[in-house]
Amino acid sequence: MAINLLPMATQSLLWQVIRNDAAKTDEERQELLNSGELGFGKIFTDHMVDICWSERGGWHRPRVQPYGPIALDPAAAVLHYAQEVFEGLKAYRHADGSIWTFRPEQNAARMQRSARRLALPELPTEYFLESIKQLIAVDGAWVPTAPETSLYLRPFMFAKEAFLGVRPAAKVNYYVIASPAGAYFTGGVAPVSIWLSTTYTRAGHGGMGSAKTGGNYAASLVAQQEAYENGCAQVLFLDAQEGKYLEELGGMNVVLVTRDKRLITPDSDSILEGITLDSVLRLARDRGYTVEQRPVTIDEWRQGVDSGDIIEAFACGTAAVITPISEIKSAEFGIWMPEIDASDRVALSLRDELTGIQYGRIEDRHGWLTRLDA
Ligand SMILES: *Cc1c(COP(=O)(O)O)cnc(C)c1O
Repeated sequence: MAINLLPMATQSLLWQVIRNDAAKTDEERQELLNSGELGFGKIFTDHMVDICWSERGGWHRPRVQPYGPIALDPAAAVLHYAQEVFEGLKAYRHADGSIWTFRPEQNAARMQRSARRLALPELPTEYFLESIKQLIAVDGAWVPTAPETSLYLRPFMFAKEAFLGVRPAAKVNYYVIASPAGAYFTGGVAPVSIWLSTTYTRAGHGGMGSAKTGGNYAASLVAQQEAYENGCAQVLFLDAQEGKYLEELGGMNVVLVTRDKRLITPDSDSILEGITLDSVLRLARDRGYTVEQRPVTIDEWRQGVDSGDIIEAFACGTAAVITPISEIKSAEFGIWMPEIDASDRVALSLRDELTGIQYGRIEDRHGWLTRLDA
């Protein structure tokens, strides 16, 4: 096997492909894909990507190999100090059978920013894109065809070095796994209730809130549990310093819509910069909306709904795209969004436009799509 030891961004890597002898047959795969119960993140394709990094050798030994367990030394740094980052994007099947993904260079750039914050090595953008293409080359048949379904791609990277001292690891691996995902909403996009956590925060100023790292999710779980206990689907966090500015949900960004065609979304250095958010704001600007990215207090939201100024609120992220918010509940108060017809919701019409572009039904006027199977 040829190994390329140069970590230079311009150097192309030589890939090794090891086929899975126990790969699902066409019938087995079709049965899984057509079961109507794909859900999210429950079943995985036959292969995965694995690239090594070491302090001395840089990125090397890129390969596609059978999907399966990763052998880890019990002293592997990630298990103790959580030095880890990840990404999430989707592969979409178009009507002509071709396979596409959405703004993957943005995911690559964000993974580099996340890696920097976690003192991990930065994977060059072309390796990131190549890793996804290599996986699709062997597992492309796993991209489902039913409406609103996709193949969710999960690139991730973690500290593999066996060492209990506290410092950035000198050995890291990057992987990509893939999981066919069902339509997030079956039978229409239903507005959800959101729990406002006044006890917990997910990230603070100077912390790692803007990095896509498992630690932020670990910090959100107990609040998410509280949300479930209060009959809510998701949790909304406020800023850690004053507890009055909106941040985001556990894994989605939040947007308010005003009667006079403004979209308001919080700005803070502890929010994860969503690619769905950025794309939705772009589409809204194209429609003549004004976008305000600035600190927003929970009081502004409450008063805006009371005065009739704020008419919609939604959450957005790759997994569910856009989810309208029907109410905010907290230990002390609630905010009830006005009831409006689905056909009048800007959130849903933006959702239709965005998914229309992703699935190739609407012209890709911003050049957001990248073909994966050619
Ligand atoms: C991934 C993520 C989002 C959404 O980002 P997208 O690029 O739109 O998927 C929002 N918040 C957090 C905390 C996330 O991890």
